[in-house]
Amino acid sequence: MGNAEEIIRGVYQIGGAALTASDDAAIYLIDFVDELVLIDTGAGNSSSQIVRNIEMLGLNPANLSHLILTHCHIDHIGSAPFFQKQYNAKIIIHDLDATPIETGDSIRTAANWYDTVFSPMKVDQKLKGAEEVLQFGAEKLHCLHTPGHTPGSISLYLDRDSERVLFGQDIHGPFNKAFGSDIEAWKKSMQLLLALNADILCEGHFGIYQPKEKVRDYIEGYLEEYE
Ligand SMILES: [Zn+2]
Ligand SMILES: [Zn+2]
Repeated sequence: MGNAEEIIRGVYQIGGAALTASDDAAIYLIDFVDELVLIDTGAGNSSSQIVRNIEMLGLNPANLSHLILTHCHIDHIGSAPFFQKQYNAKIIIHDLDATPIETGDSIRTAANWYDTVFSPMKVDQKLKGAEEVLQFGAEKLHCLHTPGHTPGSISLYLDRDSERVLFGQDIHGPFNKAFGSDIEAWKKSMQLLLALNADILCEGHFGIYQPKEKVRDYIEGYLEEYE
């Protein structure tokens, strides 16, 4: 398995199919100096490898304060219970994707697709409405409600060192009735993301896109598919 990669200062990809386990969606880490924030956690079988990857960056996993889940699918949430238990990390997800996690809904979490189960877990903070801004030291992490793939999908962005980094996991879909997908809502969500004019897109399954033009092409490419 490969090593973690620094995307911009203090923002890393620490997990994903090539880094931790083949069934893991991308896992990103933001170093806010006093605390570490994880965006998604992989499918649940690579917790110790994720910890090792954090340590290899010279960072202390005990400083993990928040775990933000972009939506309720197992390949993104699997190791959340581990990090909550081990490091007391606070679990954050949008209100509309919280129930499947709290009930261990095997269809809404797609655990049945992966031939596994997800045990119900407590959510510490439920994001509500179109946007919530989380403050970490002097910096802001913006959480945007971008429904489509699932009802409570979110995308996040961070402005650091004159770069806007967008975290958009599974913004490509897929769309499935069992997930509660909504194509029309998704189209609106993608317009919202295009308007951000992000410099870098940290995606869930296909990697990292930059510069600006490539981020735009990526999103517009999917919009054209569903016209
Ligand atoms: Zn998904
Ligand atoms: Zn996914």
